[in-house]
Amino acid sequence: MVKITIMGASGTIGKNVAFTLAKEDVIDEIVMYSRESSHARVTGEIMDMYDALAAEDIDSVLTPSCNVEDIAGSKVVLITSGVPRKDGYTRLDLAEPNSKIIKQYAQNIAEYAPDAIILIVTNPVDVMTSIALEYSGFDKKRVIGLGNHLDSLRLKTILAKHFNINSGEIHTRVIGEHGDHMVPLLSSTTIGGIPLNYFAHYTDLDVGELVNRLKNAGGNIISKKGATEYGPSYAISNLISTIVNDSRKILTVSTYLEGEVEGVYDVSLGVPVILCRGGIQRIVPVRMNDYERSEFFEAARTVKKCTYAVRDYLNESL
Ligand code: NAP
Repeated sequence: MVKITIMGASGTIGKNVAFTLAKEDVIDEIVMYSRESSHARVTGEIMDMYDALAAEDIDSVLTPSCNVEDIAGSKVVLITSGVPRKDGYTRLDLAEPNSKIIKQYAQNIAEYAPDAIILIVTNPVDVMTSIALEYSGFDKKRVIGLGNHLDSLRLKTILAKHFNINSGEIHTRVIGEHGDHMVPLLSSTTIGGIPLNYFAHYTDLDVGELVNRLKNAGGNIISKKGATEYGPSYAISNLISTIVNDSRKILTVSTYLEGEVEGVYDVSLGVPVILCRGGIQRIVPVRMNDYERSEFFEAARTVKKCTYAVRDYLNESL
């Protein structure tokens, strides 16, 4: 019996992930956990989803819940809960209220679903991954964050369009922060196994413009349609599907580092890992050029500073 819980289920990402995962054969039940104020909304979403699933002869079980005990037995608990961003909010303005939610939910998971893998989506995701790790007390292989996997999919799309090649042929990766200090690993990007710079039209590639487009991809979507939904939801489904199917794919997730990559420690950042039924099997070595390495260090400095500020905030607001 494979059970998944989504916390923050009434939100854009939460409900989209539920609908995507409902089509996954190996998952038996999805608990859509929400605050009481969102319960009616979640119940309505489920009724609507059942109608759509019936059209495809899919008999999934979707359970609305405001009772945290219902998360018991979950293989993966996804947290998408977060306060909405307001105009003029800094990263820390968002990090502080969200860290309180993550702290509480991580403690709930530790109590009611102690064997689960926690997948954090709430932003700033790298900081929230460290907070979830700390307050769940879980082994770090069972606490991961989504961020750079989505950025990597976005980079794949940009390159596929530029080279006019099927996106399946593009092997690329973005590491570091899910934010301004993301690091696209162009030096090790290949197309069909061939290094990027061997390709015709490589010289037409404006790398500065590409990096800007990548960093602004989420904001650009939000400015046009108010939220990102399909991209993050499919990226999350990739991660959960890899875990429950024990696929051992190499995907980029935020994980707490203790020196495994370039000696960086006490901060969660996106790095490639082998993902399996138990969570992170291991971090995969990364090859960077000097520029990429210095950007990775900058990502570590920025995220660490924010993480320390949030830790102080949580300690002070005890
Ligand atoms: P959303 O539609 O605003 O949903 C957020 C959900 O959070 C709400 O539906 C609510 O769920 C819960 N929530 C709101 N205020 C809360 C509070 N004070 N206490 C507890 N729960 C609260 O947002 P979204 O578009 O789904 O995005 C969710 C989060 O994911 C955001 O932090 C966003 O920045 C982040 N995100 C991350 C990535 C990534 O790659 N890491 C990509 C996209 C978005 P309930 O009422 O159902 O509990």
